[in-house]
Amino acid sequence: MRIVVKFGGSSLADGERIQNAAKKIAALRAAGHQIVAVVSAQGDTTDDMIAKAAQIHTDPPKREMDAYLAAGEQMSAALMAMALQKMGLPAVSLTGAQAGMMTDGVHSDARVLGLKNDRVAQEMERDNIVVVAGFQGVDGKGDITTLGRGGSDTTAVALAAFLKAAVCKIYTDVDGVYDKDPRKYPDAVKLDWIGYDDMLHMARQGAQVLHDRCVELAQIYQVPVQVLSTFRPGEGTFITAFPEDFSQI
Ligand code: ASP
Ligand code: MG
Repeated sequence: MRIVVKFGGSSLADGERIQNAAKKIAALRAAGHQIVAVVSAQGDTTDDMIAKAAQIHTDPPKREMDAYLAAGEQMSAALMAMALQKMGLPAVSLTGAQAGMMTDGVHSDARVLGLKNDRVAQEMERDNIVVVAGFQGVDGKGDITTLGRGGSDTTAVALAAFLKAAVCKIYTDVDGVYDKDPRKYPDAVKLDWIGYDDMLHMARQGAQVLHDRCVELAQIYQVPVQVLSTFRPGEGTFITAFPEDFSQI
């Protein structure tokens, strides 16, 4: 099966966590799957970078901010490829532009348009685990764009859609999607399944768990999404059109 996995910043916060995430990728590969891994910047890197830029410019030009912030995800991707290679697995890291992630030119809030090359497919044919820097793309001028805060989710679902992956597994620091905000409501219940429409509604209402554009894309391309914890066992929450869809994954 072809699987896209995505690891968020807290799942990659230090070397040990990167190695732990690499082990999850290795286990999926050992089970015979073809893996594309999308990574966020490590820990608080993006926030720290934004603070640094603010020391230089109170209203930093968006084009330059995109060029700067995209580096956070690129660093994670290269470190993840190193971790996988250290485990004896063939892996290659790609920036969004190398992966052909085409977007419009709206800096800091770009929309994904499609894949403009087949580099990721080629690397999979070479039997590589392909590690793609999340949150970024390239516009028609060849400039680096970013997809908005939390945008690595969108990178993952977009790749799953364009590469026709069977599932997009989003590894995060919560163990799934809850019926209401578990930080505010102690009686919140974790859902085993939620439909695209309800998930989109929750994302637009500000549920932090998934980027809203990622859910939009998942629905348009009918990508089955699984949100699960990097740190705790469990199947998390499946997001598909119908509850019966996920039993086949
Ligand atoms: N690193 C970016 C952010 O902090 C993108 C992401 O993590 O999805 O918003
Ligand atoms: Mg996020």
